[in-house]
Amino acid sequence: MTPDEAAACDKICPRCGKPLTGGVLGRVAALADRPAGFRPQGAKPFASLVPLVEVVGEVLGVGAGSKRVSSACQQLVSRIGPELTVLQDAPLEDVGREGPRCWPRLCAACRAGRGETASRL
Ligand SMILES: [Zn+2]
Repeated sequence: MTPDEAAACDKICPRCGKPLTGGVLGRVAALADRPAGFRPQGAKPFASLVPLVEVVGEVLGVGAGSKRVSSACQQLVSRIGPELTVLQDAPLEDVGREGPRCWPRLCAACRAGRGETASRL
C-alpha cells in the first residue's frame, strides 16, 4: 500500500493485524521537502518515455536485445515513423494495427506516464 494508505490504517496490517514495515516510498515521503508532483517555477516541460525496444520486449515477453524485438521495432518504425512518433504522437489505431493486441493499451499507458508493464495489462 502507499504511505498514505498505511497512515490511514495506523500502520497496522488490515489482514493480520501486525505492524506494517515501512518501504522506500514512505522514506522518500518522510524526507521530501515538497509535495509529490511539485514543479519549480520556470521548469521546462518534459516527457518520461520508455525506449521502444523495452516496450516491445515487454509486449512480446522477451528481452529488449532479442531478434524478435529488433525486427518488430523495425516494422513499427518503417510503417509508422520514427521511434518518438511511435511512442508519443502516432494515432493508437495505427500503432495497434502494426503490433500485438495489447500494444495500444501499453502505448497509451506509456504516454500517460503511468509506466505500466504488459504483465499488468
Ligand atoms: Zn499482514
